[in-house]
Amino acid sequence: MKRKKKTWQKVVWKMVKKERTSAIVLAAGSGKRMESSTKKQYMLLREKPVIYYSLKVFQESFIDEIVLVVSPGDIEFCQKEIVGRYGFSKVRHIIEGGKERYHSVAAGLNSISECDFVFIHDGARPLVTEEILNRALSCVKEFKGCVAGMPVKDTIKIADKEGYISSTPDRKLVWMVQTPQVFEYTLIKKAYDKLIMKEKDLMKEGTTITDDAMVVEKFMGHPVKLAFGSYENIKITTPEDIITAENFIKDRESKTADK
Ligand code: C5P
Repeated sequence: MKRKKKTWQKVVWKMVKKERTSAIVLAAGSGKRMESSTKKQYMLLREKPVIYYSLKVFQESFIDEIVLVVSPGDIEFCQKEIVGRYGFSKVRHIIEGGKERYHSVAAGLNSISECDFVFIHDGARPLVTEEILNRALSCVKEFKGCVAGMPVKDTIKIADKEGYISSTPDRKLVWMVQTPQVFEYTLIKKAYDKLIMKEKDLMKEGTTITDDAMVVEKFMGHPVKLAFGSYENIKITTPEDIITAENFIKDRESKTADK
């Protein structure tokens, strides 16, 4: 009887307690594909740096703390010109990233205090919205790991090394994956600790780690659920992405002005 009461109390506590959420916003890339002297995360979109937009969404959301991961040498600039200038008070740490994206994520995970869920986001995706964060939160609560993504619109082909088509996956099952990628803290922390331990073996195998879901699938064998992101949630990678993002932002600005 006593044990039953305890379990019930636990359930009620879980229902009333607000989960603690952290965001790791990645901005330590060099952005070689942009072919610009300014790093893509600091390029201007409607007079504000690319990184401003996603930080603003996280700042105004349910997220409790933000860790901003930047390139060595950019910490002071980000503190003054991004965090200070725009008043992003939820940014608790600005830290140095590493050579590859996964090194930057690992550094971010090491710097956050223990929490329930971690939202890992590419600072180069300025068009994330609070709706996407809300959908991901509901999803991660149920499945422990989820990533934002969208079903592809085009037919996708798998090519061989000579550039011939080797197969055509069923389009209904193919998604393009975005960020945020969201996980229970303990799950993603364990996965990244294992990745860093086995990094040399992966390099020998020639495995490239390009997102966080991959780390959880590979090292924890844990399934990761797909949650709807949006077709606007693009990653700024090449020069034409700046034009597309600027148009989306202009459109959003005019919709808020109409209200
Ligand atoms: O290179 P890519 O566009 O895939 O990078 C995705 C995100 O990861 C970007 O926001 C970039 O700044 C970040 N990144 C990072 N550290 C790296 C490489 C990329 O924080 N070493």
